[in-house]
Amino acid sequence: MTIKISLPDETITVTDELLARYDVNAPRYTSYPTSPHWDETFGEAQYRAVLAQPSDRPLSLYMHLPYCEKLCLFCGCNVIVRPHHEGTDAYLQLLQREIGLVAGQISADREVVQFHWGGGTPTYFSPEQLTGLFTLARQAFSFADDAEIGVELDPRVTTTAHLDALKALGFNRLSLGVQDFNPDVQQMIKRIQPLEQVTALVAACRERGFTSLNFDLIYGLPLQTPESFADTIDKVVALAPERIALFSFGFVPWVKRQQQALEGKIPLGEAKFELFCLGLEKLTAAGYVYIGMDHFALPDDELCAAQADGSLHRNFQGYTTKSGADLLAMGVTGISELHRTYAQNFRGLDEYTAAIDAGHLPVLRGIGLTDEDILRRDIIGRLLCYGAVSVDEQHFADELARLQPLADDGLLVVDGGNIKATTLGRIFIRVIAMVFDQYLTPDGTRHSRTV
Ligand code: SF4
Repeated sequence: MTIKISLPDETITVTDELLARYDVNAPRYTSYPTSPHWDETFGEAQYRAVLAQPSDRPLSLYMHLPYCEKLCLFCGCNVIVRPHHEGTDAYLQLLQREIGLVAGQISADREVVQFHWGGGTPTYFSPEQLTGLFTLARQAFSFADDAEIGVELDPRVTTTAHLDALKALGFNRLSLGVQDFNPDVQQMIKRIQPLEQVTALVAACRERGFTSLNFDLIYGLPLQTPESFADTIDKVVALAPERIALFSFGFVPWVKRQQQALEGKIPLGEAKFELFCLGLEKLTAAGYVYIGMDHFALPDDELCAAQADGSLHRNFQGYTTKSGADLLAMGVTGISELHRTYAQNFRGLDEYTAAIDAGHLPVLRGIGLTDEDILRRDIIGRLLCYGAVSVDEQHFADELARLQPLADDGLLVVDGGNIKATTLGRIFIRVIAMVFDQYLTPDGTRHSRTV
């Protein structure tokens, strides 16, 4: 079968042969080198040394709040499921101590331009708990007046009291986990949040003056059909979030055991790709700009301006306008990115607790980047952000040769060292990025599918 994708300015044809060639296991390139290539030779001592280096780069802070009341079957995050909220004060105390340890290593002149709470479910914590945590973070670091301050919201547990607290604290970016509005799909993935609940939350956000809302959607979930997903997209468009992330369902049952319950029930290959194409068609027809990979934004959103002026960047939280900032992550599993290094915190609560109790930064592993890594990371980053990059023809002669079959398939145009992905190539941009990845091993099954 051939799939036709009708976009405002062009129509793209994808044959099953082409789809089979490019629907492969591939990294998502939230980092390069990707995390399987980090190790424990990079630990606390190395991370402390990097933190202590003088730098005038601004800061982006991420705090991981891993708790949830129930486990959604599709979940790919690092979560601690506690229906009765036990142990949360203890976690917040640990996090506050980690904030103190990290802030103690960093020059007070470095401004925080971006702050984000992710999870888990940040609004699993009470408004009072969140206010206490954020107040402490503000005291520990200097925030820029126009800092971007964001949080992920679960519509099932977020109250108007949460929104009032977030507004009072200066939060200005809210991201709602929506996934899909179809009741059968919600039942199957064990995450029930009727349209009315999300609509009410959006209205409450708007009433309080929040002007930047993002919806996370997922395609490739069990029971999704083109008809049901089209209906979900229509409902999303009617609610008019400024940004939409249309994530491919990362089916990794070998890592996330609860996903095993979905084995054999999820759309794969062509059926899954059709859902993405439908989302792409409907969102662009509704006026959203396709930023790249899985992100869309309304034309007056900062992401579109950043893509136009060259300041777009991609990090662990997706696309951001804050290029040039060092990302400091705190909490279990947090991943920091400081110019030439990545460092990841312990994933388990026990190891994290033991490290903090002993006065250590809770670093599990990381990596220091070589000049070649930096060069390749920049190329991959430019491909993901702009779909285009110029490379040194001699240094990358092998890569340019390996891109030729992709060019023959219509994924990109190569002119000397200038590479420009077509719209089709932007859909499969991870496959183009893989050509520049020196660490890829034949064991690609560790990554999720490109479609
Ligand atoms: S609420 Fe989010 S983090 Fe928690 S289990 Fe569901 S998908 Fe995972």
